[in-house]
Amino acid sequence: MGKSKIEWCDRTWNPITGCPGPLVSPGCVNCYARRTAETRLRGRCGYDATDPFKITFHPDRLKEPAGWRKPQRIFVGSMGDVFHKDALYRDIDLVLSVAALTPRHTYMFLTKRPDLLWNLNQWVNNVLALSSYKSTSEIMGSDLYRKWLDDMLG
Ligand code: SF4
Repeated sequence: MGKSKIEWCDRTWNPITGCPGPLVSPGCVNCYARRTAETRLRGRCGYDATDPFKITFHPDRLKEPAGWRKPQRIFVGSMGDVFHKDALYRDIDLVLSVAALTPRHTYMFLTKRPDLLWNLNQWVNNVLALSSYKSTSEIMGSDLYRKWLDDMLG
């Protein structure tokens, strides 16, 4: 995977791609990853020709971070949602294992389904969980917000 033009990261890394519907947020309507997979990448670079945005594990990409010698800020999952319900725990576990084995890097997982990572993140120190929301009401309606509130209130 090449260097990224996104200013808050050095690299993007996509060992798991895709994010089939239903949409989980109003922000999904203009999903860049979906549009790119269904047009420019359809049938290329590991994206299926018939269903390019289905959850797809790319085991050949697992070794990429080990080859980046200098510490990198890595955006994981720019081409889908690693924590989609169709992604296998086994594959997610492999991705997190790569993060644990390359502690010089910082891994930033951007997901609209952060609940699973919220739990797993407790044992991977160099992983940041990021979630984007379109509005305050969307945040307040999320499971993660309710969990956080429960924790705060004891
Ligand atoms: S959750 Fe993310 S990857 Fe999935 S459709 Fe929405 S914006 Fe796109």
